[in-house]
Amino acid sequence: MENDIPKIGLGTWQNTDPEECIQSVKTALDSGYRHIDTAQIYENEQHVGKGIKQSQINRDNIFLATKVWIDKLGEDDVKNSVETSLEKLDTSFVDLLYVHWPADSYDAEETMKAFNELVEEGLVEDIGVSNFSPEQLEEAQKHSDVDILANQVEMHPFLQQERLVEYCQENDVYLVAYSPLARGNVIGHSVLKDIADNHGVSEAQVSLAWLQSKENVVVIPKASSEDHIKDNLDSVDLELSGSEIERIENIEKNERYVDPDFGKGWG
Ligand code: NAP
Repeated sequence: MENDIPKIGLGTWQNTDPEECIQSVKTALDSGYRHIDTAQIYENEQHVGKGIKQSQINRDNIFLATKVWIDKLGEDDVKNSVETSLEKLDTSFVDLLYVHWPADSYDAEETMKAFNELVEEGLVEDIGVSNFSPEQLEEAQKHSDVDILANQVEMHPFLQQERLVEYCQENDVYLVAYSPLARGNVIGHSVLKDIADNHGVSEAQVSLAWLQSKENVVVIPKASSEDHIKDNLDSVDLELSGSEIERIENIEKNERYVDPDFGKGWG
């Protein structure tokens, strides 16, 4: 792959309290994160921008991603909406711009054309999609001269996404795992707790390390407190054994925690 996405990023969904959001972004960057994930619909791009400015890290060393919401995916709306995002984020470009969901005003041909133009104009370094099935990704790529760098989807030990992982590995696309802690539900699960106790770490770290053990998969856990932010970052150094990975892969669950009505029917 030409451009690398840092293995771990900070998620910011529902981090709408201005001070909390600014502090979590600043703390994450100053602790070692180099990847921040936001979206127009999170209504916190301005706080994310402030957190970046207040951190000790230079913008050029940060991988910043945002997403265009489903009502702004028409050819004529994409550019305006991204210009507004850039103003809020207080930056001249984003490293990765995602189509948030293939829904509402999304049209593969129109939307990808507009995304390609933003790359040409230098407002966007790379383009991605989110909540796309392999078929939807293929259709989007057909209409894009620029390679699609990533598909951001829900993935954790209770939704293992085998088909998408395989597709991404075969097609040189990153799978950015969202809700990688199953929205907090990994805490207390017996298998994850047992493995965590053996290593003297948290269940959150076990979930994140399992995801990161897979080629092409990167994680974006959301955390507000400094303790959680740092705990999650430590997962980068946690190595699970083959048998521990197998135990996690044998967890028989198929639970989707993010399932809006407009997303129904995706792969
Ligand atoms: P998540 O990261 O799976 O879980 C976040 C929850 O886990 C929060 O309640 C957080 O609490 C808690 N937590 C974090 N670290 C912890 C730790 N070490 N120990 C115990 N609890 C911990 O859920 P998510 O926010 O849904 O997903 C992550 C990010 O993915 C989002 O923030 C967003 O950026 C992205 N996302 C994208 C989409 C999409 O459609 N593309 C959809 C959903 C999410 P505190 O906040 O109190 O630390």
